[in-house]
Formats: sequence, structure tokens, C-alpha cells
Amino acid sequence: MAAYTPMIMQYLQIKADYQDAFLFFRLGDFYEMFFDDALKASQELEITLTSREGGGEERIPMCGVPYHSAPGYIEQLIQKGHKVAICEQTEDPRAAKGVVRREVVQLITPGTVMEGRGLNEKENNFIAAVSMFDDGSYGFASSDLSTGESRLTILSGSFEGVLNELSLSGAKEVVLDSSTPEDLKNKLKERSVLAFSYENQIEMKESYQHLLSELVDDKAKSVAARLFNYLHRTQKRSLDHLQPVLAYEVEQFMKIDYFSKRNLELTETIRSTAKKGSLLWLLDETKTAMGGRMLKQWINRPLLNVKGIERRQAIVDLFMMNFFERHEIREKLKEVYDLERLAGRVAFGNVNARDLVQLKKSLLQIPLLKETLVSMGNEDAIELAAKLDPCEEVTDLLETALVENPPLSIKEGNIIQDGYDNQLDQYRDASRNGKTWIASLERQEREKTGIKSLKIGYNRVFGYYIEVTKANLHLLKEGQYDRKQTLSNAERFITPELKEKEDLILQAEEKIVELEYEIFVTIRETVKEYIPRLQTLAKTISELDVLTSFAELSEQRRYVKPAFTDERRIVLKDGRHPVVEKVMNAQEYVPNDCFMDRERELLLITGPNMSGKSTYMRQVALTAIMAQIGCFVPASEAVLPVFDQVFTRIGAADDLISGQSTFMVEMLEANNAIANATENSLILFDEIGRGTSTYDGMALAQAIIEYIHDRIGAKTLFSTHYHELTALDENLSMLKNVHVSAVEQNGKVVFLHKIKEGAADKSYGIHVAQLADLPPELISRAAEILETLEMKDELGAARATVGNSRVIHESGADVKTESMPSKVESETSEQESNSTEPTDYSAGQLSFFDEAPVKAKAVAPNKKEKRVLEKLTELDILDMTPLQAMNVLYELQRKLK
Ligand code: ADP
Repeated sequence: MAAYTPMIMQYLQIKADYQDAFLFFRLGDFYEMFFDDALKASQELEITLTSREGGGEERIPMCGVPYHSAPGYIEQLIQKGHKVAICEQTEDPRAAKGVVRREVVQLITPGTVMEGRGLNEKENNFIAAVSMFDDGSYGFASSDLSTGESRLTILSGSFEGVLNELSLSGAKEVVLDSSTPEDLKNKLKERSVLAFSYENQIEMKESYQHLLSELVDDKAKSVAARLFNYLHRTQKRSLDHLQPVLAYEVEQFMKIDYFSKRNLELTETIRSTAKKGSLLWLLDETKTAMGGRMLKQWINRPLLNVKGIERRQAIVDLFMMNFFERHEIREKLKEVYDLERLAGRVAFGNVNARDLVQLKKSLLQIPLLKETLVSMGNEDAIELAAKLDPCEEVTDLLETALVENPPLSIKEGNIIQDGYDNQLDQYRDASRNGKTWIASLERQEREKTGIKSLKIGYNRVFGYYIEVTKANLHLLKEGQYDRKQTLSNAERFITPELKEKEDLILQAEEKIVELEYEIFVTIRETVKEYIPRLQTLAKTISELDVLTSFAELSEQRRYVKPAFTDERRIVLKDGRHPVVEKVMNAQEYVPNDCFMDRERELLLITGPNMSGKSTYMRQVALTAIMAQIGCFVPASEAVLPVFDQVFTRIGAADDLISGQSTFMVEMLEANNAIANATENSLILFDEIGRGTSTYDGMALAQAIIEYIHDRIGAKTLFSTHYHELTALDENLSMLKNVHVSAVEQNGKVVFLHKIKEGAADKSYGIHVAQLADLPPELISRAAEILETLEMKDELGAARATVGNSRVIHESGADVKTESMPSKVESETSEQESNSTEPTDYSAGQLSFFDEAPVKAKAVAPNKKEKRVLEKLTELDILDMTPLQAMNVLYELQRKLK
């Protein structure tokens, strides 16, 4: 290999330590990239690729971005998941002997962005660290470098717990041990992780010890150390704004797994992954960025502790009753700047004077907020007021030191007020006096020469000069001034006196700029000492913001305060789906009740497609979540248990998970609920079993329902299009049928969106197609096919009776072999109770159902059926997982067919 030039050698040496980052190598006014970095960056950033001699045999690929526009390019790379190492010249090039010394001063990564578009105001930007321990447990820590918040937890059990925490944090970068197995990394990658980083140093540095409570164990310490050591190593500067680490246990909060969270669209919608249309979007009436971030954290972790919930409710209640004070407080909150991120930038040393003026304006709101709160006279309000720390010393300092409208730059002066610093005042005097002297010189010279247009000007190259137009030159005496510059229609002159004053002025101005910068840095360092107080204040402000915003929303949308019961009872009167209600005109939304208790653990919901089944189920879950974050809920009356977990399996999310079949995903999610739910959980199953053939689907659906009914007892809403399942209420005492009503008018179905007791009579799929304006021929052909299919189906149903029987029970003695013909009864009763319901399709169906199942029961089992029955009796159900049970069930049913 031919020898590279010393500079390229230096580049290669530095690059060796930053293999996985783009190295932005400072060369004069540019950041240059070389070799592969240049090839990749020119593509990613669409900038011109060039090359240069570097001493080697071939020219070296190169591309670069100007120093001043670098932030935009860095942002682009970071958003694509890349890392950027900023390498600066760390000595004055004029003083350097040989190659200028260069060092990486910061590594910017997706998880450590401090400013710019990479940071969304109302979003945290967490970076996470994961540790695996020998006992099979995992450590999970996360920090938002921009706000200084950190938290950590130790998770026993499966890696799924880690994935859940990761998706709750939304971290785009994860710090791992370099020996982490590939399969775990792949799982992390599926949860939108953009970048992996490695840190094997897990000893906690002395300087970060104080951030950890003494109570945390060694595992917790090591995962926190992994994260902090990484931050320390990459940021290469003071991280004084890091707040004490919050250690938590996942059991302290309502658990909503990743799929359920997506399905319920808590913080983003499934289709567009946008905030708009999510629960967060509905609830977000916050006025500050900090409040917005806190709200999202609350939604991600609803509380289990009733006292905690009621504390929030009490304040919401208070602000609902005090409209004017609420209004006043929200107006003032608008003026409060992002104190948390500001504290971060103070610590990082990249605030400017404008930021500090904003800080002052924010702090000036605090006494006003306190006053309003105190005036409410209520105990809770007074307590809140007491918690608001106005940090007066900071306000005073900033008020006396900074001018009202400082420039963006902190290196050009005009930041500090007169009277704040003696020395500065003296320099300013000198400069001002000099300028006054020059102004009077201009007057004097005009008089002396009689040239009215004579003027004294200034430019950067020549400094101060006397300008006389050509027409007036003859009025000057020979040698009166020294000639300096000739313009087309004027001459410029100087005098020794003028230059003397100029020196004084310029010196003063240079000193002013230097001194102002120094003073600014001192002020910044003083503010730094207040960071912990500012962060506490930020938390209180955020809380006030979220709670007043709950009150605002609850009043606007007529929500009520839910009461909590430990009797496992749900009473929702006139419940609404909060988001659908908002999107739709409130008058059009049909409210629905929901009543469940120990006798009604499971609701089986039937009704036409598009009638509102899944909306109804979701509204119950969203109401529970809103209640447990302390918000009021969309109902006219609400009593709820505190749910420990919410599980959902709702269609339509399938396409999201690549590489797995819809049905497999369905079963995985179902299994997740079945394996983890308790009697205090809420389960929503929407059309489970749809992803496979009718009989498998129905068998699985039934087995799942029975399992939940017998073994778990979780509050469950189960919607289905298998009408056969509605007969389950005969055997399952805690299962009740409800349906969404629809009526047919002039051959078209009209949805009433009203939930009623009992089972629905049929599905209206074809009518929905009709509503969607499919061609009439197509519709009538579909009706024909349906009729044929229904006839076949009923014959099939008769044959599959065993599959439909209730088989999951501890002993064979409990095996019942009746079929499920009670659908007939429920349909009849439905028709009786609602005479507007049509009868045309069901007529044919009735006659079949009347007889076929009964006959099947009467016939003695043949050899094949006997074998199946024997197998069934032998099964050791207690020793099977639900999924195994389903598989066996499937197998047996297949034998029969
Ligand atoms: P299903 O699950 O029965 O197929 P959805 O719950 O998806 O039906 O509801 C279909 C549509 O009906 C929703 O998008 C919504 O516009 C409307 N809808 C649902 N429930 C109501 C209601 N209670 N009041 C008014 N419109 C509703």
C-alpha cells in the first residue's frame, strides 16, 4: 500500500474508532467525508461526489457539506437511523505544526439528538439499554437526553417483556452488550429500532452514582451503568441535567401489550401510524410541550393504585367546577416554555440568550399561576400552588442581566443590559463617547470646510473615514486630510485624530463582545445550578397542564367521573367511543350501555358487519384506560373495576406483521391473552377464528370462550359472526349474548348501532356490499350463492355436531354431546321481540336447523366417531396449553370430516 498523506492517515486513525458512524471531518469551513463514507453519504444526502489525491495509488472518494449547513444534513442521516461523529480541529490551524490536531467531540445518534427537527416537541426521545442476566431476567433502562429523564426496571421471564418496555419507550436506539445474540437483536429490530450501539462497561461511574437510589440492586445498577457509560462516552461533556433514575416495576401499572396498544390506537393509528385519530390525539388539549409528553407517558402507563387515580380525579373535578380559573391558568401555561429541554440545553452548553429570555418569561408566569390557584381556596389547589417553585433567583438574575430582545448569536454582543456589569459599562461608555466625539467632529468639519454634504462613515475594511464628494473637493485645503480611498464620485480621507478615536472605539467594542460572552457563560453556569429545581417545576407544570386539559375536555365532551369498585362490576350508561364520537358529529353517535358483573363475565356480541361491534368493544377498553389515567369518561354514569391488564385481538392489524400468516398472528395474540389474563383483566376478542376455515375457526372460538369462562374469568367482550356460538349461553352460565340491532328498510339494511340483549339473527354482509354501491347484478348473484352455501353449511353443521359440543372439562364425565341448536330459539325470540326484523333468509334456515341437529344426536356413533370419543375421554386437559387443546380439537374434527 502506498503511503497516504499525513492528513488522510489522521482521518483513518480516527475513523477506526467510529466504524458504524459517518465521520464528519472538519477541514476549514467544510465537514468532509472520505472513502466509503463519501460514497454512502453522497447517495443518502444527494450531494456531489468528488475525489482528491491522498498519497495512495488511487484518488480518494470525497464529499462534503459546508459547516454552517451541517445540522440539516446531520438530521437527515440521523432520521434514517445513522450515526454521525463530529470531528473538529482542536487547535488553531495557524499555530499547528504539521497536521492540525483533530478529535471527535460528539457522536450524534438517533437516541441522543438534542435539537432540531429530530426532536418532536411533544414527544420524548428515549434511548434504551438492555442487559441479560444469568438467572434469565433482563434489565431495561431508558433515558431522554433532551429532558434528562431516566427510568429502569428488571424483568423476569420472557424477552417479550423487554419488547413491551421498548415499544412503550419508543426508543429508536438500543445499547447492548456486544455479545447479544442475533435473534434477540432481530426481535428488537421488529419494534422500530433504528440503531444498535454497544457498551460493555457496566461499572457505574462515581459521577453518576447519585442518580440511583440506594435501594436498587446490582442488576439495576449495571443496566443503568451501561446506558450512562454509553452516553458519557459519546457525548463527551457534562450531563449535569440527568435526573435521578426512576426505578419501577411493570406490575405497578396497567399492562397493555404491544399488539393491544396498537389495536386500541392509544397513541397512533394502525393505518397511518399518525397521532391524529388516536386516543392521545383526542386527549391532548395540553398547552405545553412538557404536558404533551407527560400525557403520552400517562396513556402508556395507566395506574392501578386507586388512591393515585382519585388524586388526579379530584384535581380534574376541581378545574371542571372552576371555569374561569381554569381558563386563566391555561392562558398562562401557553407562555411557559419547554423547561425540561431548556435545562438539558443549559447543561449541554448550547442555550442562547433568547432561550434564557424565554426562561425568564416562563418563570414570570409562575407567581401568577400560584395566585390563581390560591384564589380557588380549595385545599388541593393550594397544595398545587405550594409545589410550584418560581425560582425567583433565576428570574431576578435574568431580568437584571439580559436585554429584552437579544440576538441569536451569543458571540456578537448586545446581550447584557447596561448597569449589570461595571467593566462592561466602562467599555460601553468608551465606545459611546468615541462615537459622540465622531459625531461632533463631523459637525465641526462641515463648519470648518463649508461642505454641507461632508460626512463621516464606517466600513469594516477602512474603519472610520471622512467622505467628500468630487464636486466639493476644491473646498478642501491642500493636505488638510490624508487621502485613503477614491470612489467614482467621492474621495475618502482620514486624520490621525480620527484613527486614534477609532482605535479606542474598536478596542472597546472588541472587549465588549468578549466580556458579554463571558458574562453570558457565567449566567448560564448559574442557571445550571438551578437545573434540578427547574426540572421539578417542569414536572408540576406538566401535571397541572394535563389535569386542566382533562377538565377542559371532560367539560366540552360531557364526560363523567368514574367510580371504582372492587366487585368486578362494569356499569357504563350511555357509553361512547371517545374518538369516533369526536370524529363523527356528536349528535349522530348512538350511546350504548355496558353492564357486566360476576354473573356476566363474558358478552358474546353478534350483529351485522359494520353495525358497530368492534366500536362497542373498543369503547369499553378506552373508557377503562381513560379512567385509570385519571381522566373522566364518555358516559353518563360509570362504575369500573381497576383492570390489571387489557388484551385485545382485533382484526385489521394483520398486515402490519410481515412474514407471519394472519391466522398465526391471531393465535399468538389469543394465546398471549389466555396465558396472561387474570380475573381482573379485560379481554376484547373481535372475530377470533376468522383467519381459518369455518369449522376450525368456530371450534377454536368456542374453545377459547370456554377456557376463559372456566379457567380465567376475565371480563371478556367477544364478537363473532358464528351465530352457532350464541348457543353457548346455555352451558356457560356467565356468558351472555348481546347483539347490535339493524333493521331492513326497502331491502336495505339500516344500522341502529344499538346494543341489545340476546343474539342477532343473521349477518348482513351482502347488504353492506349493497351500501357500498356494488353493481345490482353482482349483489343478487351473491344472494343466490349465499343461499346455496347456507344450505350446505347446515348439512355440514349437522355432521360436525361433536366438534360443536362442549368438550373442555376436567373429566370425561362432563362431556356433553348435545349440539347447539338453541340458535333457533334465540332467533325466534329476537323476531318476536322486534317485529321490524326481516324473516326472509331465516325461513329456509329454520326448517333445517329444526331437525338436522336433533337427528344427529339420535344416531348412534359409528366406528370413526367412537374412536374420536375415546380419544377425547383420554385427553389430560389440565396438562395441555390452550393451543395444544386447539390443535387436538382440530385433529379430531378433521378425522370426523
Ligand atoms: P363491526 O365491528 O360490527 O363490523 P364497527 O364497529 O367497525 O362495525 O363499526 C362500523 C362503523 O359504524 C364505524 O366506523 C362507525 O362509523 C359506525 N358506528 C359504530 N358504532 C356506532 C355508534 N354507536 N353510533 C354511530 N355510529 C357508529
